[in-house]
Amino acid sequence: MVTKDNIEEKLDLTESERKWLENPSSLPLLVTDYFFSLIDKNNIDDPIRRQVIPQSEENRGEDFLDPLLEVNYSVTERLIHHYNNRCALLTTDRCFTYCRHCFRRRFTGTSSGAISTEQIDDAITYLKAHNEVKELLLTGGDLFTLSNERLEYLFKSLREARKDIILRLCTRAVATAPERFDDSLMEIIKKYNFGAPFVLMAQFNHPVELTDKAIKAVSRFIDIGIPAYNQSVLLKGVNDNVDILEELSNKLMYNRIKPYYLFQGDQVCGTKHLRVDIVKGLEIEKELRKRLSGLTMPQYTADLPQGGGKVILTENYLKEIHEDHVVFETPDGERRSYPR
Ligand code: SF4
Repeated sequence: MVTKDNIEEKLDLTESERKWLENPSSLPLLVTDYFFSLIDKNNIDDPIRRQVIPQSEENRGEDFLDPLLEVNYSVTERLIHHYNNRCALLTTDRCFTYCRHCFRRRFTGTSSGAISTEQIDDAITYLKAHNEVKELLLTGGDLFTLSNERLEYLFKSLREARKDIILRLCTRAVATAPERFDDSLMEIIKKYNFGAPFVLMAQFNHPVELTDKAIKAVSRFIDIGIPAYNQSVLLKGVNDNVDILEELSNKLMYNRIKPYYLFQGDQVCGTKHLRVDIVKGLEIEKELRKRLSGLTMPQYTADLPQGGGKVILTENYLKEIHEDHVVFETPDGERRSYPR
């Protein structure tokens, strides 16, 4: 593991990285040896390095700790119910590797710990009383930092209480700790893979993360019938480039992972230096849409501040509305009329 105590032995730090070390922010520095090995140590702009090695800009103190108002939408200690038909369960604050762009800094890496039996039971009681909830995001932190025993208790309790709920397994571990998905863990997942489906929600942000090991970890889910989706975050100096995103999407789809979301960075404190200007993001989206099929195109999406919810960000192709027809602009900038 790479931490703030040994990072200087492993990497020649930039001034900004060294300054962070002198005055660390609340989100710990923790990177698995595997993920760290993907960094080109001679490149200070390496896309993995930018995602996991903190810089002094994190301490600027701008933005919000909880822009999505998750605390306000919490219905039990660990359960968030914002959207009518789905909830998110914070299974742990721990991750194998902490991403500097993490949108849940209010909770991630805070030593809140793994979800307790009582916290699971409280969430179950709520879910039993709320049939409108059709999907549950098992998130955190990273779900798969939980022990196999805790995971088994969680899956068993959920399947017994509501086997009609789709369980989204939200994890970055397939990218940062692919060895976690060994036979014993996959046996547990197989055992509870009945009723409403499990869906794997991965986070790959750059094509270099899609190594053979990472692809194999995801394949273990797909091979037992669990579909895989990817949620990337648009990050300055990491993937704010059409060529990189095109390669990422094609590589994901080739490996049976559906590119689902491309998130605009949330207004979370400590992440501003990684956030992309939303107008640049829209230009990237427009160009990407020309290059990719509908199957490989992720939805560029913003989670609006003050708990405003998600909105899809895309070019408005509808330019004029008339009494008997509308006028569109084609992706290549030409005009087409369509009757009403
Ligand atoms: S893995 Fe997810 S929860 Fe953990 S630090 Fe990264 S973005 Fe945050």
